[in-house]
Amino acid sequence: MSAVESYDRKLLLENAAERAIDLAEYSAINNGKDIPVGAIALFGAAIAGSGYAMDGESGIQHMHAEIVSLEQAMHTPDTVVTTMEPCEQCQDRMAEIESIKTVAYVTPRTELSDRLLVNPRPSINERIARYELPYRVIRLSNPALLQRALEPLEFTSRDLLTGTTDVDSEGFRIYRDARNLRDIGQS
Ligand SMILES: [Zn+2]
Repeated sequence: MSAVESYDRKLLLENAAERAIDLAEYSAINNGKDIPVGAIALFGAAIAGSGYAMDGESGIQHMHAEIVSLEQAMHTPDTVVTTMEPCEQCQDRMAEIESIKTVAYVTPRTELSDRLLVNPRPSINERIARYELPYRVIRLSNPALLQRALEPLEFTSRDLLTGTTDVDSEGFRIYRDARNLRDIGQS
């Protein structure tokens, strides 16, 4: 792969991660009892499917964002981009789909260990080290992406810890992230 190709590939994955974070933000607002995770399934450079964690909404356990994005995929996905390091169940599901060659994520589970959001689980790195996954795993280490991805997680964490929810006049959870506050400040 040439330098230009790999640069384009990185941009493609980061752009997909931005869309996945948008979904995680939506989930944080509207789907409050879940860990807000978003995922995008790619077919080449096109978005094949998208999803966010739907445990609370659907009443079906384990409708994690990655699974939803694959179930909604219109084409055979080759890549899944997710806002958080995928759990073992999702790792296995993605391993069953032969077309998937790459899984990229933004937030490592270790980032959440002090936020009481996820149970301690083996890191995906352990399975990579044991050659248990048939796809390449990429951590998108862009600091701006990580900061954005953590905001909905921290928002839901606060909410879960305090047991309080701010709701607007239409019943939607009030979610203010740093970008929105900056945007308002500039207008
Ligand atoms: Zn999962």
